[in-house]
Amino acid sequence: MAATRRPGRNHLFVPGPTNIPDRVQRAMIVPSEDHRSVDFPTLTKPLFEETKAVFGSTEGTIFLFPASGTGIWESALTNTLHRGDTVLTSRFGQFSHLWIDMAQRLGLNVIVQEEEWGTGANPQRIEEALRADTNHEIKAVMTVHNETATGVTSDIGAVRKAIDAASHPALLFVDGVSSIGSLPFYADEWKVDCAIAGSQKGLMLPAGLGVICVSQKALKAAESSSGPNDRLAHVYFDWADHQKQNGAGYFPYTPALPLLYGLREALACLREEGLENVYHRHAVLAEATRQAVAAWGLKTCAKEAKWNSDTVTAILVPEGVDAAAIIKHAFVRYNLALGAGLSQVAGKVFRIGHVGDLNELSLLGAIAGAEMAMLDNGVKVQPGSGVAAASSYLRENPLAKS
Ligand SMILES: *Cc1c(COP(=O)(O)O)cnc(C)c1O
Repeated sequence: MAATRRPGRNHLFVPGPTNIPDRVQRAMIVPSEDHRSVDFPTLTKPLFEETKAVFGSTEGTIFLFPASGTGIWESALTNTLHRGDTVLTSRFGQFSHLWIDMAQRLGLNVIVQEEEWGTGANPQRIEEALRADTNHEIKAVMTVHNETATGVTSDIGAVRKAIDAASHPALLFVDGVSSIGSLPFYADEWKVDCAIAGSQKGLMLPAGLGVICVSQKALKAAESSSGPNDRLAHVYFDWADHQKQNGAGYFPYTPALPLLYGLREALACLREEGLENVYHRHAVLAEATRQAVAAWGLKTCAKEAKWNSDTVTAILVPEGVDAAAIIKHAFVRYNLALGAGLSQVAGKVFRIGHVGDLNELSLLGAIAGAEMAMLDNGVKVQPGSGVAAASSYLRENPLAKS
């Protein structure tokens, strides 16, 4: 009889959902409770303050929605923009594509700068487009910070500089779903008007809690609607409804209670490690992964080192090899979940997610498993080469900065 149980722990190395620390998992085992009770704000009020740290913000306003990251994209667009408004964005992977698709379906006029997959937002092109927009038709610039499909990180500080260099008043919306909590993010310094995060990646929680950090400028944009007809419809994601209740620690509807307890614990984990150490750990683990890829003689989807993401590495398999077969085999044979190639890169890449709660040895398990799955599928890598390269890099480079 075929076994129905996969023994041992599943090695979860998709770039979201990510591994949940045991203490965060335990913190979510709570009885249901009255979310209108006098006690409830003891949990919630500090969350609105403490969550700002992962956004690199003290000035922003946090909203917490029972939603995934996609819902928070919608929240940013619909609260601040009007039907027919023009937005400027770049497409270089499946997530930037999906956000564009949403903006178009909402009735926005989307100017898309096509960038090669494996690269990211081009600040110079953005600046040129903004300079040419002398009437300030462009109301917002939308950028995906970390394109999870290709393992590419864009330079948001440079995008901000481009907007400022053009002296353009457009809002800046940044998708930080697979970066916030794992990669350095400075919403105040970069003047990000809507910074978008989801719970199941850097925040080490299950999916279901959408988080947005909103600037004063974006809150003003949300207030100055020019009439009900040309507003983009939004009810569930309306910030004003939340603002009326959040100050006292309540929500306009039932929050996902266990996730709020989980968020409190996850933020405590990040604080105890220290955000600088968290960011450094991701940089070291990512570099170790890239050393393994180089030792295998393979290439990443990211075209140049400056695009390398420290939360996910997309690895190009040799011509004639089906990356999907490697992913399936890794799961069935070695209980290792690798990320699939999406859309344009389907079958061409597999992804190792190194985002959230992981360390040297968990990463080495994934590298060993990827290596075995590739060998089993006819990829002629030198057995042990990836593990050797990654482990020697890790021995030289401690995870903690301080
Ligand atoms: C995962 C992800 C999303 C989508 O988030 P969901 O929580 O799946 O809705 C959006 N953008 C990026 C960059 C992501 O990695």
